[in-house]
Order: sequence, then C-alpha cells, then structure tokens
Amino acid sequence: MPVLFDDAKQFDLTVPVVIVGGGACGLVAALSAKDAGAEVLVLERDRAPSGSTALSSGFIPAAYTRFQRAAGVTDSPETLAADVMRKNHGEADPRMVEAISRASGRAIEWLAERCGIEFVLVEGFLYPGHSALRMHAVPEKTGRALMAALTAACGRAGIDILCEAQVTALHADAGRRVRGVSFARRGQATEEAGCEALILACSGFGGDAEMVKRHIPELAGVDFFGHVGNRVDAVIWGEALGAAVADMTAYQGHGSVATPHGILITWALMMEGGIQVNANGERFSNEHGGYSEQCVSVLAQPGRVAWNIYDQRLHRLGLEFPDYRDAVAAGAIRTAPDLESLAALAGMPAQALKKTVAQATDFAAGRSADPFGRDFTGKPPLAPPYYLVKVTGSLFHTQGGLVVDEEARVCDREGRPLPNLFAGGGAARGVSGAHVWGYLSGNGLLSAVSLGWIAGQAAAVQAISHPARSRSRPSPESPHG
Ligand SMILES: Cc1cc2nc3c(=O)[nH]c(=O)nc-3n(C[C@H](O)[C@H](O)[C@H](O)COP(=O)(O)OP(=O)(O)OC[C@H]3O[C@@H](n4cnc5c(N)ncnc54)[C@H](O)[C@@H]3O)c2cc1C
Repeated sequence: MPVLFDDAKQFDLTVPVVIVGGGACGLVAALSAKDAGAEVLVLERDRAPSGSTALSSGFIPAAYTRFQRAAGVTDSPETLAADVMRKNHGEADPRMVEAISRASGRAIEWLAERCGIEFVLVEGFLYPGHSALRMHAVPEKTGRALMAALTAACGRAGIDILCEAQVTALHADAGRRVRGVSFARRGQATEEAGCEALILACSGFGGDAEMVKRHIPELAGVDFFGHVGNRVDAVIWGEALGAAVADMTAYQGHGSVATPHGILITWALMMEGGIQVNANGERFSNEHGGYSEQCVSVLAQPGRVAWNIYDQRLHRLGLEFPDYRDAVAAGAIRTAPDLESLAALAGMPAQALKKTVAQATDFAAGRSADPFGRDFTGKPPLAPPYYLVKVTGSLFHTQGGLVVDEEARVCDREGRPLPNLFAGGGAARGVSGAHVWGYLSGNGLLSAVSLGWIAGQAAAVQAISHPARSRSRPSPESPHG
C-alpha cells in the first residue's frame, strides 16, 4: 500500500519536517527548513547522499547573483524566466517559472552565505538558449563535489541524514494530511517516523523502465544515465493522495555521451564551433537547438550514433571539464592531422566529411547560410589538427511530476494545495513543458535547488504552526551521525 489512511495512527517518534531523498533538492530543503527553525530528518535510500545530482555536471542556473555582478554580467530573474519560457514555447506554468527564477539567485547566495558553500560562475561559453552567463558551480565543477559540499553543510547545521533508509509508504488521515512515513533499513524491521510536514525530494522516474516506456516511448530501451534511485515513488504517493501530475512526457536527454565509454562530452564544444556528423560524414541538425532534443536526433542516425568533430582550440576548452578529461583518459577522444585521416578513424567517407567541414567554414565566414538554421558566425572555423569523439543519445532525467504551487505545496487535481505535502526537484513537475525540446540547460538543478529552498521554508512554517508531538528521532547512521 503506498499510502495508509488511518486517522488514529500514533508514532513513537515524530520529527517536524521529514524529507524523502538526499539529492540536491532534499539537502537544500533540509538546510532551508533548519535555517527557518524546524528540526529535520532526511531519509535517503543509498549508503550516502548522491542521487542524479552527484552524476551531474553540477551547473546551477541562478539570476542576479553577486557572482554574476562581480564578473560584470547583467541578468535578472525576469530574463531567466523569459529564457526558460522561450525554450519551452510557453508550455510551462508561467507562475512557477517566475517563482523559481525569482528564488534562484537568492537560493545560491543563501547557500554561499548562510551555509558556507563556495560557488563560482561558469564562464567561457553560453549554453543554448541562455542570454546571460548564469551557471553556478562549486569550484570543482562536478555534481559529486556539489553533493559533498551540501552534505558537509548539513553536518555543520546538525541535520540528521539517515542513509540506507528507503521510504516504503506514507501514512495520512482522511483529510489528506500526511502523518508520517514507513521506512526500511537493511536487515531491520520496518520503522516509522511521524511528521508535521513532508517534502518529497526523491526525484523522477528515469530509473523505472516500464514508466519510461509508457510516457517516453521514443527512449524505451535507451541507456538511462541518471541515478537508479529515480523511481516513481513521489508520483505514486502523490496520486494516492489525490495530487495532480503533469508533463510526464518531458525529460532531459543528451546527444553527446561518448560511446561505448559512457562519459558526458561537454556541449561547450558545439556551442563554440564544433559540429556533429553521422556515419555518412554529414550534419543532420542545428547543434545549437539544445543538447536535450539532440538526443533524439542522434538516435535517429545510422547505428544510433554520431561523431563530434572539432579542433585543438575546442579540445583545450574541453580540458577545462572533468568529464572531458575522463574521456581523454579513457581513450574516447581521437585526433588526426587532417580530415582524410580523421574520417579514417571514424570509418566514414573522407570526401563527405571534407565537404561538411568546408560548408561549416563557409557558414562561419558568412558566405552562405546553414540550412539547419545554426548561426556559425562569430566563431573561428575548424582548423587542423582535428579531433573527434563517437557519441550517442541518452536519457538523463525526467521532468514530469507532482504539480506544486509557488510555495512548493503539492496540489490536487482542482489546484488546491494538500495540507502538508511539499515537493521539488525531479519529484515535481519541471519548467520544461511537455516535450524534450522544452528543456533549457540547467532546468534540472534550477528546480532542485530553487524549489528545495522554497519547500524547506514553507515546510518549516507548516511544522512550526503545527508543533510536533514528540521531538525524539531515530538513531542516525548518517555520514555525520
Ligand atoms: C549526467 C547528468 C548530468 C546532468 N547535469 C546537470 C547540470 O549540469 N545542471 C542541471 O541543472 N541538471 C543536470 N542534470 C540533471 C540533474 O542531475 C537533476 O535534475 C537533479 O540532480 C535532480 O535533483 P533531485 O534532488 O531532485 O534528485 P536526485 O539528485 O536524484 O536525488 C533523489 C534522491 O532520492 C533518493 N530516493 C529515491 N527514492 C527514495 C525513497 N523511496 N526513500 C529514500 N530515498 C529515496 C535517491 O536515492 C536520491 O539520492 C544532469 C543529470 C545527469 C544524469
């Protein structure tokens, strides 16, 4: 039973705010709720908090931050919201896009100032659809380092993170107020914890092949590059409580995963002048449309693969990214002094590749226009020595989920908020509309961090106005327990 309804249910222990899932959303929500004065318990199914966040590049879009201002970047929440809405063709809920965009900069500055997490602005290139430099990352520029920083901040704040604790059911009353959760720890009988507010931060359903097949049939059977713990729990529990779900067909794909190595190759290569060709040595799309929808374009090519073609200038840019360095170490990146030998490395017709690169040179010089609509001007043409990497398309995470309002409260099908249930990150409906092309780079962590920050505050207010009956907590076996 996903949700057990029992008005008389008693719990031996109750914590004001319980959070299911210890990825970026869950840990930001925990820090936010604690900062707002509530005691918090995070329940995380893995041995340590990681989730898709740890697998990610860790780039978080945020508008009007002091990091941007220090770098002379002009941006605003309104500009970010406009970029998000332009990319999703107006399909997302504009109120949510506005609320999340408004929260983005404040959340990053709060994480820096109140939680002691160091951030840098990612400079050097713009992701497709972003009109300002606004990706923020921890100095190591990896999702793993972001998770390490968030986990350490939780430790400093005295937040209990109970690991290897998988939530298996919710308890609620007839008024749809969540009363608590059941959770399973390895080798132990099922345990329970009561709560005054519950935050679902257990992400989407990319790890559930059946759900992917049902909602995203074009990616059925395609490798899932996210975290296996991205099951469908939040949607199952929410629906049992009468919550609305939306945009289940939306997702972040990626058209640049080195194959067979399974390493993300930064899209910066494409944004700064690289091209993608198929086994015939021909381009097949506008690479500046977005890396998410490019996953579908790449999978439509012969053998379901493509080759990123670029040069030494771009190789040097790639070396700034940890994933790219891993790809070099794994032997995924190949180089050749001329196009003839580069084509031989890929087993593609040399004449066709030469013609494609010559066309790109013409586009860059403004002598002709790209039929796919990409603007090549402003970037130098490709020059020897050349580089290539064979890539395929992959599913990174799903964007559909529970409908929430501006306070991250989960709403029912009539748009009314449930009494004390909150959601964020991959558990909640994203801001990408209903299609793969609606994903603006960074929409994943934008929602995880901003909604996590909002949800933590709102849940704390909820919990404080409904004081917990008992403050005792389960014995933590946490990284800092
Ligand atoms: C390779 C890759 C690169 C990416 N790069 C970026 C990027 O640079 N920028 C960006 O914005 N987005 C990026 N994304 C997307 C981003 O990673 C996700 O949108 C984001 O991490 C979602 O955060 P989350 O906290 O909602 O989920 P997660 O980080 O997945 O955390 C959810 C947690 O919930 C736990 N959990 C699940 N069910 C239960 C349960 N029943 N009980 C207890 N715990 C449970 C899981 O174990 C997991 O730890 C990338 C994704 C991938 C795969």
